[in-house]
Amino acid sequence: MASHNPFTMAQSQLDEVAKLLELDEVTHEFLRWPQREFTVRLPVKMDNGTTKIFTGFRVQYNRALGPTKGGLRWHPDETIDTVRALSAWMTWKTAVLDLPLGGGKGGIICDPKQLSEAEKERLARAYVRALRHAFGPEIDIPAPDVFTSPKIMAWMMDEYETLEGKHQPGVITGKPLPIGGSKGRMDATARGGMIILREAAKKLNLDLKGKTMALQGFGNVGRFGGLLAEQLLGIKVVAVADENGGIYNGDGISMQELAQHVDKTGSVINFANTTKINNYSDIISQDVDVFCPAALENVINQQNADTVKANIILELANGPTTPEADAILAANNQLVLPDFLVNAGGVTVSYFEQVQNNTNFYWSQEEVNQKLEEKMTFAFEGVYKIAQEHKVSMRKAAYIVSIMRVAEASHLRGWV
Ligand code: GLU
Repeated sequence: MASHNPFTMAQSQLDEVAKLLELDEVTHEFLRWPQREFTVRLPVKMDNGTTKIFTGFRVQYNRALGPTKGGLRWHPDETIDTVRALSAWMTWKTAVLDLPLGGGKGGIICDPKQLSEAEKERLARAYVRALRHAFGPEIDIPAPDVFTSPKIMAWMMDEYETLEGKHQPGVITGKPLPIGGSKGRMDATARGGMIILREAAKKLNLDLKGKTMALQGFGNVGRFGGLLAEQLLGIKVVAVADENGGIYNGDGISMQELAQHVDKTGSVINFANTTKINNYSDIISQDVDVFCPAALENVINQQNADTVKANIILELANGPTTPEADAILAANNQLVLPDFLVNAGGVTVSYFEQVQNNTNFYWSQEEVNQKLEEKMTFAFEGVYKIAQEHKVSMRKAAYIVSIMRVAEASHLRGWV
């Protein structure tokens, strides 16, 4: 894969739209960089008696619209620039959904697969102790992301509450249900993405029933993405890939059965009645109607964008398409439904979780899904309208909506 800096990419996406909007120089400069960032060293006692020092980050990109909000990634390749980029995209994500929240992101450089449960717990608690004063329901609210889970959120909430000496469930979202989680949070990112796909198909006069999809990634988002594409839209998922490899069956792969297989074996590979495919070049170039990247950033780039055959790219991952690839896909008349609109369902239900925590009154699954439906369709319509009016891509239109909201809030506060 080409060497790649996601933060440079996030900045260049912003730059293009700032130019289009003729944004004043000071506001542009202000929006190009995080407002606040932390790097922390975390000594953790390992099970074998040694102590290992981990490095963690938290970037609070912009808080003009509200407390900063965004997930935590535990990944061996985590860098400050990746976290900066992801925190910028969180800023545009909460803004495009019109949530009263800013954008932030965090990460720890580690390989969770090499850690025991006890080591993970000590690492999660160490991270909260190091950043306690930077977190809070009215300051900055973490959530799950790549390789973090409700269980980790529970430990972190507990550590924070212990230090504060009181209940503070709104300090973190994506928690398990019995301790302040929200119904519908588990599949919210994927559900929101399917709502965007459905709305886009309506505009294209396209019947999604029986259409084919290739899915890259089978973590929380990819798994529910496949399942809901099948259940809600009648889409046939014919190819799936994870970090270990890819599988293909032209007649469709049962998402329910694949999920059971992954729970048992830890990977999609060797699933019955499928042939092996490569998890990078083959999955991206599948001859399908919809390609859904649901793993990491920078998978569709200058080198391979021309090989994408799908007419619709549904970005459930953050930052999967580089600006160079965007230009190639646009020239080939392929529709890219952009990440921070498509995958905003997660943070939207995180916001609902916080509202429920703050009022101490919990909603039914139907209520959560209904409110998510309203928020996502409203955001889609707003972005679509701008795309039509300005004759720009859906990504640029989403940026226009978000930048205008964050810039206005920053002006009103007298910052710029
Ligand atoms: N990590 C998710 C995202 O990238 C969710 C963030 C949240 O719920 O705060 O949107």
